[in-house]
This record gives sequence, C-alpha cells and structure tokens, in this order.
Amino acid sequence: MSTIAENIAKVGARIRRAAEAVQRDSQGISLLAVSKTKPAAALREAYAAGQRDFGENYLQEALDKQRELADLPLTWHFIGPIQSNKTKPIAEHFAWVHSVDRLKIAERLSAQRPAGLPPLNICLQVNVSGEDSKSGCAAAELPALAAAVAALPNLRLRGLMAIPEPSDDTAVQRAAFARLRTLGEELELPLDTLSMGMSHDLEAAIAEGATWVRIGTALFGARDYPQASTPSDKGNPA
Ligand SMILES: *Cc1c(COP(=O)(O)O)cnc(C)c1O
Repeated sequence: MSTIAENIAKVGARIRRAAEAVQRDSQGISLLAVSKTKPAAALREAYAAGQRDFGENYLQEALDKQRELADLPLTWHFIGPIQSNKTKPIAEHFAWVHSVDRLKIAERLSAQRPAGLPPLNICLQVNVSGEDSKSGCAAAELPALAAAVAALPNLRLRGLMAIPEPSDDTAVQRAAFARLRTLGEELELPLDTLSMGMSHDLEAAIAEGATWVRIGTALFGARDYPQASTPSDKGNPA
C-alpha cells in the first residue's frame, strides 16, 4: 500500500470511530481530500485508493491539476477565498463551492454556471470564531444571505462551512462546530450539509454533525509553501 492509501485507510478509521462514539452512521460523513500544493501524482494515488472528491484552494493550481487528471472521474470542490473576478472558471469547473461568504459572489456563480451542468452545490462559509481576520460571513448576516442564495437559479444551497480558530481543547473545538450546526438549524431551509473538521479536529466536528470533513495533512503530509503568502491557511498546523 502506498503511504497515501495507508493514510486514507487511517483517516477512514478515525471517521468511523468518531461516528461510533456518538452513535452516528459513518455513511453520512464524506471525506474531502484537500490537495492544495500537492502534485497531480498524489491525487492519482488517492484515486487509486478509492478517493473521488478533492478540495482545492487556489484556482490556477486546481485548473492545472484538473487538466492533468482529466482521464479520471473526480469531483472537484473549491474551498478557498474567492475573488469576484475568478468566479467564472469556478462556476465552470467545479461541482461544489464551500467558501461562499457574500451575495455578490453567489450571484456571479449562478449567472456564470454553464447551462448544461447541474446546479453548483454551495456551502456558505460562516465566521464562527468571531475574529476579524478570518473569512466567512458574520452569524448575524447569515439568514439574509442564505435566503438570497437559496433563491438563485443555478445554485443549490446545501449547507454551511466553517474554519474555526485552531484549538487543542476538544471542548473549544466542539463549541465552534456546535455553533455552526445551530446556525444551520435556525435557518428554515432544507439543508443537508455541514462542511467542518480538518486533520486536527475531525472527531469534534463529527461529534457535532459534520457531513464533509476536509482533510489535507493527515492524507498527504505536511504542506510546503514557497513563501509565507497563504492567508487562507494561516494558523492551521501544516
Ligand atoms: C487546507 C485546508 C483544509 C485542510 O487542512 P488540514 O489541516 O491540512 O487537514 C481544510 N479546509 C480548508 C478550507 C483548507 O484551506
């Protein structure tokens, strides 16, 4: 078995154990392999081990890998910060976007979704740690944003996403994820998705209802960045 295949098996076991601990069916929890900064060959290895869903943060890097891996039936998720001048390729080349945090971006994605494709699956990213520097809409803005996004024709609002402040304290981790779950429950919309939990806190996220866990380091190893210019990743152990 390759290291990546072994890591996928280990993360799968963590997901099952975490689900069992809270009497959840682990079938309801999907693994999103976060492959930012990793070469196409690493994704190919993950595919050979059964992985189909991949999350990318940087548009150009993602498009390059999609071209290299066009022979594989992969499902692509965009999970990084979105500039409004980049929405068209995102609308064209992804099945999911987890990081929508303002209406303008959602409107552009809907308008630019090609007619032949199914609606783009959307998660709204919410700032659950209340820290100014993080992306995500404020909890107070969420109801209006969710209602407006749910009404857009070429999007399908699936649920919420968060990247809480990293913490080693399980209680703190769970409180942030519980907050996201509660915010979702308070919206009177048919949502089925909570995108929450990363390599260091997937157990806490699963305990609070995660349906996608977004895992990078635990599958592909630590990331190596060329410079310290990765704002979406700041503070995450890598
Ligand atoms: C990088 C990243 C992840 C994966 O984080 P790990 O700690 O490497 O598992 C998950 N979600 C988002 C939005 C990311 O940017």
